[in-house]
Amino acid sequence: MRKVGGRLNVIIVGGGIGGLTLALCLNQAGIGCRIYESAAEYRPLGVGINVLPHASRELARLGLEAALTRAAVLTREAVFFNRFGQLIYREPLGREAGYADPQYSIHRAELQRVLVDAAIERLGAQCFRTGWKCVGVDQDAGGAVAHFVDAERGVGRSSERADVVVACDGLHSIVRKTLHPAEGAPRYSGVNMWRGTTRWPAILTGASMIRAGWLATGKMVIYPIRDAVDGAGRQLVNWVAEVETARHDERDWSRRGRLEDFIGAFADWHFDWLDVPAFLRAADAILEFPMVDQDPLPWWSDRRITLLGDAAHPMYPRGSNGAGQAILDARSLADALVAEADPVAALAAYEARRLPFTAEVVRMNRSNPPDAILREVWKRTGDRPFERIDDVISAADLAAMSERYKRVAGADRASLAAAAERDARVSGAGTTT
Ligand SMILES: Cc1cc2nc3c(=O)[nH]c(=O)nc-3n(C[C@H](O)[C@H](O)[C@H](O)COP(=O)(O)OP(=O)(O)OC[C@H]3O[C@@H](n4cnc5c(N)ncnc54)[C@H](O)[C@@H]3O)c2cc1C
Repeated sequence: MRKVGGRLNVIIVGGGIGGLTLALCLNQAGIGCRIYESAAEYRPLGVGINVLPHASRELARLGLEAALTRAAVLTREAVFFNRFGQLIYREPLGREAGYADPQYSIHRAELQRVLVDAAIERLGAQCFRTGWKCVGVDQDAGGAVAHFVDAERGVGRSSERADVVVACDGLHSIVRKTLHPAEGAPRYSGVNMWRGTTRWPAILTGASMIRAGWLATGKMVIYPIRDAVDGAGRQLVNWVAEVETARHDERDWSRRGRLEDFIGAFADWHFDWLDVPAFLRAADAILEFPMVDQDPLPWWSDRRITLLGDAAHPMYPRGSNGAGQAILDARSLADALVAEADPVAALAAYEARRLPFTAEVVRMNRSNPPDAILREVWKRTGDRPFERIDDVISAADLAAMSERYKRVAGADRASLAAAAERDARVSGAGTTT
């Protein structure tokens, strides 16, 4: 790829949520880019995902709100239960909580489809290459180069050149390994996850994000991701079973899981709001993922090459934030490339802004993500039913735990309102000059 007419050009390695969002942000900013994705085609990988208001705000700025609203469930509340089905805490989410932007619960494949459709429509299909696997990167004073092979046959394709290469190639990033060869494999948390979807009548409000139990004995996360999937008005409901488990395999978006490996932990979860074993047995398909992350890196950018999303900061999926932070990275990098004439300085500025912030989210996801509420009650009750939750912990303490996580992730209402005000000032200043 060449710099055409002085316009900056960017190679994006990996067309996942981070890479696609970056392409849309760069396109909006008038910066040229091409995406190189190793998969030969987009298959519906993974299961559900939550996009919190800090990230949905950026997707709305890309004009994707209507498409996402059609594809997703707009989440209204978070609800926490112990493993006896007793209600611990409930709080509103998204617009119900007064945010300007919604929280989306959506199938990963749907989110990816909305991003791919927009990227192809805006950038043109020629800027989007599938079956191109990056095997290495290089650079000199005038540009950066990514080397590719045919992902299926392993034979060489061309080496592509641009002003900047951004690695959005996920957890097993080849570029991260090139920049940090001494770093080991992803760190296993000791918790294995089984995920699936079940067609089921609305649970609670029909837009509730439920967390129940605790990792030591088995925890469930349950939320709907699509409305009215059949004539009976059932929803497609995403679930995650998380259980402390010594054994694990490498993370892969499509590894099949087996019900018998985890259903025992939930065998007596028959609640008035859901019969969990029956719900799990009715699953369409089950996938298995180890819960892994990496220690925060000391640096992401080597002059004209940088990392973004899971390639930069893989984190435990305990705060609905991995994809959200990839989306925020994308906006921040596009802004830096607009603000700085020198691409090397732009990448350094992006890293200075995003690395410390995301490192804090990685650490917080290890220690005190939102489900720390469940851990606290599990500890205080000795894993027994309670008479009254107020005797165990106050609603104010629970709300404070939840707020603390939102502040670290940049998803609290005050931070988002301040960001919206800043944007309004900038665009207001733009129109008067
Ligand atoms: C079980 C689970 C649940 C989660 N739930 C949530 C949630 O609710 N909310 C949330 O915000 N996040 C969630 N996450 C995290 C989120 O899925 C990731 O953080 C997000 O997908 C990261 O996006 P990415 O673009 O960086 O990486 P990916 O989505 O992994 O995309 C990387 C892309 O790069 C491509 N690629 C890889 N290697 C190469 C190569 N060598 N050359 C070219 N292309 C390559 C891949 O094919 C892929 O398309 C969850 C994660 C897991 C495991």
